[in-house]
Amino acid sequence: MPHAPDTGPRPVSPAPSTIHLSGSQDLNCHHSLNFVSRESQAGPGCIQRCFVLDFAASSQSPVVSRAWPFEEDYMTKPRNTGVALLSRREAIGRVAGAGLGIVSVLHATEDAGAAGRQSSAAPATSRSAPMSIPSWNTELKQLAPNVYAYTQGGGPGVPSSAISNGACIVGPDHWMAIDAFAAPPHTKAFLAAANKAAGKPCGRLVNTHHHADHTTGNCFFLPAEIVASEFCRQAVIKGGISDLRGRPESWKVGANELKLAPPVTTIDDHSRVTYYYGDTEVQLIPNNPAHTWGDVMVYLPQYKILWAGDIAFHYVAPAGQSAYISKWIEAIDRINKMDVDVIVPGHGPISTKKDLALMREYLETAKREARRRYDAGMSAGKAAAEIERAMSKFDSWVDPAANRIVPNVVRLYAEFNGTIAPDLPNEATRKANEDYKAAKSAGSR
Ligand SMILES: [Zn+2]
Repeated sequence: MPHAPDTGPRPVSPAPSTIHLSGSQDLNCHHSLNFVSRESQAGPGCIQRCFVLDFAASSQSPVVSRAWPFEEDYMTKPRNTGVALLSRREAIGRVAGAGLGIVSVLHATEDAGAAGRQSSAAPATSRSAPMSIPSWNTELKQLAPNVYAYTQGGGPGVPSSAISNGACIVGPDHWMAIDAFAAPPHTKAFLAAANKAAGKPCGRLVNTHHHADHTTGNCFFLPAEIVASEFCRQAVIKGGISDLRGRPESWKVGANELKLAPPVTTIDDHSRVTYYYGDTEVQLIPNNPAHTWGDVMVYLPQYKILWAGDIAFHYVAPAGQSAYISKWIEAIDRINKMDVDVIVPGHGPISTKKDLALMREYLETAKREARRRYDAGMSAGKAAAEIERAMSKFDSWVDPAANRIVPNVVRLYAEFNGTIAPDLPNEATRKANEDYKAAKSAGSR
């Protein structure tokens, strides 16, 4: 049953005043935040201001950039050391009604556009040069009044596995989160930044899907209500508490605090749920099967902002181990029909439909190349090794792309032979990995 929309009367929130951040804050996860305020005079009566939280010296440094309200946008360019302010070249979005510009500053967009133009020429079967990809920062970025996106940093050569994104949407008495991250330090860093920006507690968490990098930190949001699809709830319960196996030791700080916290409110796959956070309309839109059988997106129609969950991977190779890839492509096409200017992906930088189109191309190319080899009777593993060569333009996508091609081809083969199902195809993937390694080894001799 759909959760009853939270449509009770709420006072209209005033436009937020500028957030002043200063000093430092202990995150209770062995890091501290250092706040930096940068201002410049942009012209008569126009102060440009950017607040940056420079967090420790790890690759997961969260940065809060206050990019609203600006007359001219500035952006923080991701750097492992320090922060540089650059002039905006492209910003997306608009604030309906108020006539204010969303200052979601999409530093990735320009590189992405160049990448897209560069990449469209070569046929899929030729080996083309990897596209250039942007870097992006760990930061809480204001996209609209009371609306923040949280990204975890990445870029060329930066490991991206389980490095996911989130959100903070602020209402009169609490804020809503989207997704809960993979490890306690990630969740705590997000919560510290979002609580600081919101100035009130989190009252609701939406899980876009069940994967551990979006749900492991659920318990840190309690007693907030946790909302997701019914499939997500069941999968979280079935998956149990993540043991963070294979993850860096730094991710395990606080792991003893983890407990199972599945969604307690579920929506069905055919119903939208609308919440009102002050005057911000927040729609939960199921869009599955796609990346999983339980994907739910969050859409803010006034601002044309979409949190797509893992239906969108931008410059990160799509992880399709739980996917129905043909349906995933259809889910992307449904997004393309929506009135959306800004897409916050589950992984990668905040971007647009143009960047989503590149991911669609990845999936479509993988499907086409897999079908050809399936029809020729080739094993999934050997096909993956060949397809990897055919998709070399995506080699620069992080994680790296090669790590994802075997499970993606396994899922495509399951579509083709009619065995596709929600559960992980562990045995088929194991066999395909063996064949993939053998094919790679033979190819290198
Ligand atoms: Zn996922």
